[in-house]
Amino acid sequence: MEKIDVDILISGAGIAGLSAACAFGSAGFSVLCVDPNPPVTSESDANSDLRTTAFLQPSKRLFESAGLWNRLEPHAAALQIMRIVDAGGASYEARDIADFDASDISDAPFGWNLPNWLLRREMLGRIDELDNVSFRAGTATTRLTTRQTEARVTLSDGQLVVAKLLLAADGRASNIRAQSNISVKTWRYGQKALAFSVTHTIPHNNVSTEIHRTGGPFTFVPMPDLDGKPRSAIVWMEKGARIRELLSLSVKQFEAEIFERSAHLFGPMNLIGRRTAWPIVSQLANSLVGQRTALIAEAAHVVPPIGAQGLNMSLADLSCLLDLAIADPQQVGSDAMLSKYQRARWPETRARVMGIDLLNRSSMAENPMLRDLRRAGLKTLHDIKPLRKTLMKAGLGAT
Ligand SMILES: Cc1cc2nc3c(=O)[nH]c(=O)nc-3n(C[C@H](O)[C@H](O)[C@H](O)COP(=O)(O)OP(=O)(O)OC[C@H]3O[C@@H](n4cnc5c(N)ncnc54)[C@H](O)[C@@H]3O)c2cc1C
Repeated sequence: MEKIDVDILISGAGIAGLSAACAFGSAGFSVLCVDPNPPVTSESDANSDLRTTAFLQPSKRLFESAGLWNRLEPHAAALQIMRIVDAGGASYEARDIADFDASDISDAPFGWNLPNWLLRREMLGRIDELDNVSFRAGTATTRLTTRQTEARVTLSDGQLVVAKLLLAADGRASNIRAQSNISVKTWRYGQKALAFSVTHTIPHNNVSTEIHRTGGPFTFVPMPDLDGKPRSAIVWMEKGARIRELLSLSVKQFEAEIFERSAHLFGPMNLIGRRTAWPIVSQLANSLVGQRTALIAEAAHVVPPIGAQGLNMSLADLSCLLDLAIADPQQVGSDAMLSKYQRARWPETRARVMGIDLLNRSSMAENPMLRDLRRAGLKTLHDIKPLRKTLMKAGLGAT
């Protein structure tokens, strides 16, 4: 089999890998993206990823340059207000409500929410339009060797690929990271996230609502209406045993539980489709680079789904690499380019992983005194305007 030469080989076609293929392809680089699992692009498929992703403001610029925004915008629900609710008292009712309004810091909303299966469909559609980008489903990266000038990667079908830059977007158990001898630190919480969507009687008015009590946040993210009814995606984080219990409930019993846990803020709810459970960890690679290799997304960092940070950090990785590649295309994959990437992204990534770890632990608090402390902290962050604005900008990745 003849070897293939490309500028960029992407290992992994999750949303991060597909975004990278569209972004580097649109910038004129030759790209090959491979994944052993064909992406599922329809809502009704039994293996469909029914989660949604809230993309924050900075991702819009990347999606525009990748030729994706015009495809995504018609399906996106805007997120104008982030509402944090403390329901940590004796009953399930809301004790405090703190609104963070995007108009305090910008003319644009905080971000936009989109279903993951639809993102994959539109990203594959964009790849089809680009002659310089190829995608191979059913193919994994297997062996990696590197030289000063190139990465040499063998695929599961025996094909050799020679690339100037290898992007590891192959998820939290990344094969490329392991072969590059980059270790990770992992924090476990004994927690899982239940993801599902609902229709409800009280409109969401483009407000994303995070309700804190115990076990982790219960988050509503707005979606476009369904058959004239307000619809939201929900992520409910809880201890593993409680998630197993929730999965075993009948739909009727489950709807009663979510009505209670939502502090009754959206009225009675109807479950749409399946409930899916996701393991929750924090993880950080001890370096974002190896020779001719850059780690992005969950290959580099994993965080609990709080404040829509996970994939948005991944897109910030991607924007940084793309800017460096466009600024000096001859240097793509060089030590000089990769050191700049490491310097720009690692300290920020570490700070965000640690910050989200802290937020998650505070949201899990069971002790009433700790819950009261959390409530007081939230009130201070919200009520002092400069602090509130700084927090909002930091959440968007703007500081
Ligand atoms: C419940 C939940 C809700 C979330 N909500 C949000 C949100 O609102 N906003 C946000 O920013 N983030 C959110 N996140 C985080 C976000 O979903 C993740 O960051 C993102 O899905 C991870 O994408 P990824 O492409 O890095 O990894 P993955 O989706 O795991 O993709 C990795 C891909 O690599 C492939 N692969 C594995 N091995 C190989 C190999 N050897 N060769 C080639 N390919 C390989 C796999 O098949 C897979 O397709 C959420 C997470 C959870 C759990």
